[in-house]
Amino acid sequence: MSSERKPIKRIVIAGGGTAGWMVAAALSKTLGKLLDIKLIESDEIGTVGVGEATIPTLLTFHSLLEINEQEFMAATQATFKLGISFENWRDRGQDYIHSFGLTGKDHWTAGFQHFWLKGRERGLAGEYGDYCLELKAAQQSKFAHLPRAGMNYAFHLDATLYAKYLRKFSEGFGVQRIEGKITEVALAGENIAGLRLDSGALIEGDLFIDCTGFRGLLIGEALKVGYEDWSHWLACDSAVALQTASTGPALPYTRSIAHAAGWQWRIPLQHRVGNGMVYASKHIDDEQAKQALLANVEGEALTQPRVLRFQPGQRHQTWRANCVAIGLSSGFLEPLESTSIHLIQRGITRLLQMFPAKGICPADIAEYNQQSRNEIEHIRDFIVLHYHVTQRQDSAFWRHCREMDIPASLRHRIDLFRETARVFRVPNELFAENSWIQVMLGQGILPQQHHQVADLMGDAELARFLNSIRQQVDQTVVQLPAHQAYVESYCRVAG
Ligand SMILES: Cc1cc2nc3c(=O)[nH]c(=O)nc-3n(C[C@H](O)[C@H](O)[C@H](O)COP(=O)(O)OP(=O)(O)OC[C@H]3O[C@@H](n4cnc5c(N)ncnc54)[C@H](O)[C@@H]3O)c2cc1C
Repeated sequence: MSSERKPIKRIVIAGGGTAGWMVAAALSKTLGKLLDIKLIESDEIGTVGVGEATIPTLLTFHSLLEINEQEFMAATQATFKLGISFENWRDRGQDYIHSFGLTGKDHWTAGFQHFWLKGRERGLAGEYGDYCLELKAAQQSKFAHLPRAGMNYAFHLDATLYAKYLRKFSEGFGVQRIEGKITEVALAGENIAGLRLDSGALIEGDLFIDCTGFRGLLIGEALKVGYEDWSHWLACDSAVALQTASTGPALPYTRSIAHAAGWQWRIPLQHRVGNGMVYASKHIDDEQAKQALLANVEGEALTQPRVLRFQPGQRHQTWRANCVAIGLSSGFLEPLESTSIHLIQRGITRLLQMFPAKGICPADIAEYNQQSRNEIEHIRDFIVLHYHVTQRQDSAFWRHCREMDIPASLRHRIDLFRETARVFRVPNELFAENSWIQVMLGQGILPQQHHQVADLMGDAELARFLNSIRQQVDQTVVQLPAHQAYVESYCRVAG
């Protein structure tokens, strides 16, 4: 690998979707003065055009970039998001919300769920979600920024406008955009030397970031890095997307509505609603999916339904030689928990932390790839949980999900929670204990026991403890403004 130990100064980003422009923005803001950064994109090819629901970690990315929230929200027609409503997942007619908030108060030996389980057993507790501010605010369609502990939130945003916003941002920090179609990846040994465009120009670089989307033009087609397929755990391989006009106030949460062979998303923005149906093509065809989606949207259709194909899984390596794949080129998990933009952000953070200024070293590559793998496998397990733990038996799709084998890591988490109500988070995992608990309870797992520490409380003390949390939540929510009104006053663009 001696030829690779040369200083890295010229960065070439291939692709200008959400991934490409997020990479450009973060690299230029952080190391722009030391680097020459070019981004190649093709208007003719365009972007995937979806990816509009985010999770709270995006706030960290924006704070790293010193992005002004009001300006960003106005530019991307964004709304606030407090969680995801899972409808018909546990069974038809049953709903729950996976919120971004914390639920109740933990004891150092045992999480709040143990006290809630004891309270439930004694007839003293309400719904688990009654003890979570963000969840109750979501249910009542309310929102405000709150001081101190505050409100945990994310955004719904227009993906095309977000790329445009980040483009302006990146160009301000010196990124050079090149319009053109990449027709050939020129190799020098195991490295990439340059990208040939349809104009004939050769764009040379030291480090190439593959943000070409599902095509994986550099990492897959040129460098031949293979793909690990997870379709035996995640049967959905297609989506149909459609934009509609808003018909009422924007909800501060994403809706995920399970159907016979997949699920439907509804993402409310300021100016429109993003809709889509994710489905398993083995169980329904594109036409049936389109019809099911059209029959289940509100508001006038603003676009034609557009079918997208994907393969759940990950690249065997996301960094090979002098090429790092970020975004859809690196792997894909369906958008059930809105995690793709987060994975882009994590790829960027990792790259910046391991930036090979003095030359690429194999140990960095190995570390980067191992961290990427751990991260996406953890998220994969969380998504598989939603499908596998269900009482639905009404279609071949759901029967398959109930009966399929699941990863051993997920099996362990489910067994531990079912038997003991315990959940542990390994450092660097995205989803914290409260996320697992909300989804496991929501999908219908009721633990068989709770921690003894909850038994130390008598009924009166336990009731006081539970009620005080619930009252605090209710008193806060009652004072919050309606989400729609808050968005309008906070960031709505005139006209
Ligand atoms: C159905 C669906 C729903 C989703 N929903 C969510 C969600 O709610 N939340 C979330 O976080 N994520 C979601 N995602 C994922 C999200 O859309 C992506 O992670 C995000 O948009 C990043 O995509 P990308 O930039 O990697 O690829 P793309 O948007 O496909 O961009 C690829 C870029 O490469 C360029 N390109 C490709 N080939 C060439 C070439 N030969 N020459 C020049 N340029 C080229 C294209 O022009 C484009 O600019 C969803 C994905 C799908 C499929």
